[in-house]
Amino acid sequence: MSISHPAVSAGPGGVDDAADRASAPVGETTTPAAPLATIDLSAIAHNVRLLRRYAGDTPLMAVVKADAYNHGAVPVARTALTAGARELGVTTIDEALELRAAGIDAPILTWLHAPGTDFAAAIAADIEIAVSSREQLAAVVAAAGALGRTATVAVKIDSGLSRNGVPVDEWAPVADALAAAVGAAAVTFRSIFTHLAHADDPHHPVIDSQRQRFDDAIAVFTERGVAPAVRHISNTAATMTRPDLRYDLVRPGIAIYGLSPLPPGIPASPIDGPTDLRPAMTLSAPVSLVKEIAAGEGVSYGHMWTAPTRTRVALIPLGYADGVVRALGGRLEVAINGRRYPGIGRICMDQFVVHLGPTDTEVRAGDTAVLFGAGIDGGPTAAEWAGLLDTIHYEVITGVRGRVERRYREDAGL
Ligand SMILES: *Cc1c(COP(=O)(O)O)cnc(C)c1O
Repeated sequence: MSISHPAVSAGPGGVDDAADRASAPVGETTTPAAPLATIDLSAIAHNVRLLRRYAGDTPLMAVVKADAYNHGAVPVARTALTAGARELGVTTIDEALELRAAGIDAPILTWLHAPGTDFAAAIAADIEIAVSSREQLAAVVAAAGALGRTATVAVKIDSGLSRNGVPVDEWAPVADALAAAVGAAAVTFRSIFTHLAHADDPHHPVIDSQRQRFDDAIAVFTERGVAPAVRHISNTAATMTRPDLRYDLVRPGIAIYGLSPLPPGIPASPIDGPTDLRPAMTLSAPVSLVKEIAAGEGVSYGHMWTAPTRTRVALIPLGYADGVVRALGGRLEVAINGRRYPGIGRICMDQFVVHLGPTDTEVRAGDTAVLFGAGIDGGPTAAEWAGLLDTIHYEVITGVRGRVERRYREDAGL
């Protein structure tokens, strides 16, 4: 996905010209209409403030990995920090360095490293490095020694996800190696954390077993003279449902972008005040063409849809190369001028067709078709796509790509 205007200029408090253009009514823009992922930074700020209420007095780390779930890491990070996030979490050191290069000096944690990673750049940029093995710790210690600096280290614990993190048999050896490294002033041990397997099912017994193992791991490290200063577990779902898991920091991602990970029927913890999340990303495209087709004409490859009568169709210039996946063919609906219209026929690489109906005279070329967004006025949402595709909305928002340009908007007084 391209960013048509430098994302870094769209910081909180200042509305850049991209934001002006994105919120200008159709018809008043001077640039040709383009497919857009419009990111509402006011929604990001709102969601962070809401999550802070779920977190109580516990500080919040905003997870902005994968380019802030495809919303743009730098503007989202700035907005989240302004809205009260204390720290930032990303997956890779490169993601962390991008934030530092933009001048963001908040604490940043990074937790997934390829073999052979050179940790020196992260140490020099004062990025907290989570290790998942003795080998990674040794590499961090070596890089710190070569630089003549002290690295800030976290330990990621595998408490039952069997993915990233130090497995139970390695807790003691990693703790001993860490104690030696701390003793040699090669590293400062800051935090210990783990990640849940069943967070979206708040009463699942595995959550409690993971908590117990996490506590056991903390005890092992503490006994060996390396007590963590900061302990954390909670992703969004746990932040919203399990106040008992707050420890010293909560670590939500998805709800910052306005999407709830809780399945229908799973309530969030009670908090005072409004609890609406606001989806931050709207995927839209200008209608390219409106035309009439005769009864019996087939639409798109394979003629999966045939016009029952003479009728009108509109062409949307986005396809599977842009993240409008082919499995949505004949299933998705788009909103144009506040009304929903069904997609018909196959989704192609670059385009798909929607049915306007025989009598529609409203829709014109240049009108904006919303593929998914905040869902206000009954418009389609990323969660709706996830339901159609038997996936999760995380995959929907991170799947937007190709010709879609990213723009930012924010309300005055963010
Ligand atoms: C992605 C991630 C999170 C955030 O998860 P959400 O479900 O998006 O809130 C938190 N912690 C770790 C380690 C992660 O990888």
